Amino acid sequence: MSFTKLGLSEPILKAIDEQGYTTPTPIQAQAIPLVLERKDVLAGAQTGTGKTAGFTLPMLELLMQNKPQLKKYQIRSLVLTPTRELAAQVHESIETYGKYLPLRSTVIFGGVGINPQIAKIKKGVDIIIATPGRLLDIISQGFLDLSCLEMFVLDEADRMLDMGFVHDIKKVLKLLPASKQSLLFSATFSKEIKQLADNLLDTPTLIEVARRNTSSEMISQSVHFVDKGKKPELLSHIIGSNNWTQVLVFTRTKHGANKLTKKLEFDGISAAAIHGNKSQGARTKALADFKDGSIRVLVATDIAARGIDIDQLPHVINFELPNVPEDYVHRIGRTGRAGNEGEALSLVCVDEHDLLKNIQKLIKKEIKVIAIDGYDVDPSIKAEPIQNGRGGGQKRGGGQRAGQGQRGGNSRGGNDSKSSNQRGRNSNNRSRGDVSRGDARKQGTTNRSRNR
Ligand code: AMP
Repeated sequence: MSFTKLGLSEPILKAIDEQGYTTPTPIQAQAIPLVLERKDVLAGAQTGTGKTAGFTLPMLELLMQNKPQLKKYQIRSLVLTPTRELAAQVHESIETYGKYLPLRSTVIFGGVGINPQIAKIKKGVDIIIATPGRLLDIISQGFLDLSCLEMFVLDEADRMLDMGFVHDIKKVLKLLPASKQSLLFSATFSKEIKQLADNLLDTPTLIEVARRNTSSEMISQSVHFVDKGKKPELLSHIIGSNNWTQVLVFTRTKHGANKLTKKLEFDGISAAAIHGNKSQGARTKALADFKDGSIRVLVATDIAARGIDIDQLPHVINFELPNVPEDYVHRIGRTGRAGNEGEALSLVCVDEHDLLKNIQKLIKKEIKVIAIDGYDVDPSIKAEPIQNGRGGGQKRGGGQRAGQGQRGGNSRGGNDSKSSNQRGRNSNNRSRGDVSRGDARKQGTTNRSRNR
């Protein structure tokens, strides 16, 4: 299958070709023809499957098929995303794929000045990519009119709901015209997502490219059991000894991200933190520095990391496991993107054994255990409730679900810790070989990606 068979026109094919894409990914092969037929689509797609091009390419194509006269503040297409980073990345994709087309797009999100955004809309745009809060703000000020919208895309709908945007989404839906094409993308399908889909979509076609809640087969996953206090040192050791140059590290809290960044810097590993307490400018700079290789490690919380798209990101490390198992899938989805291999390593302390169990249940597989000399667990350390930090946890992680982790730590942590510690110890000899073999391979991966 090649892009030329999908019904896209020459200027778009040229832009795709310049990206070096030769074959559509499965989601693209399925979604593009359906969207071009103006069908409503409900798409189940993991992160990293190429879903952005799956909707942006046919959107550009359709927008080129007619040229209505827009009144001031009217737009033709709206993409709603949960985070600023994802909005910026979708916008970047639209600019890239649409570089030979006379269509104008802009991105709207909070945390930066509203006036330049309004000024852009005033000049006239066809496509807006937005996060819900700022979009509603601009609409309420009378600077945006959705009454002529031709296409509406709800991207990463599951994450939108997780982040508490359900009311904002409903407000936006009320402002859309009855006759429009709608697409809904979600990695998982809860009851709430199905309800949202029922409200929004008109006899949609369902497409799914990967089993729900499973982690990509292209990602090699492993776990290293380690005492909590030794995690920072082990992290520096792993990054330093493997000479990894581009590593995305996840912490559970914003405070934890800052602290770990300082520790990495202290150990001579350049790093920056990205989380909700950072200004938009700082977030953008951290991401840009990470992408261009100026820093080796980006330490992120879950919400901030959502939407981070870096081509061929070779390594993701969970410094702490997430409270919500689905977040594990999202986190490791940052590597192994669009058919490239990736490695995801989780550092797991005795407090987190229940979280690991829940993750393995969700992904329906046992994650390989590795061990590095000198970082054996101390079996006398007992599990403690997981601290999410005062106001530092992610919105939902700090709430009810965080409690799950706490309960687990208290009630069953003791037994679990024994069996898992045992597993960690038993695996030492076997895994050491794995680690050194892995090192060579990892080094190769890093070099390959650097050369690209
Ligand atoms: P997405 O799932 O949309 O975030 O895309 C994941 C990554 O895959 C991005 O880095 C895209 O640039 C890349 N990508 C998208 N489509 C293709 C394709 N057909 N071939 C290779 N890479 C692609």
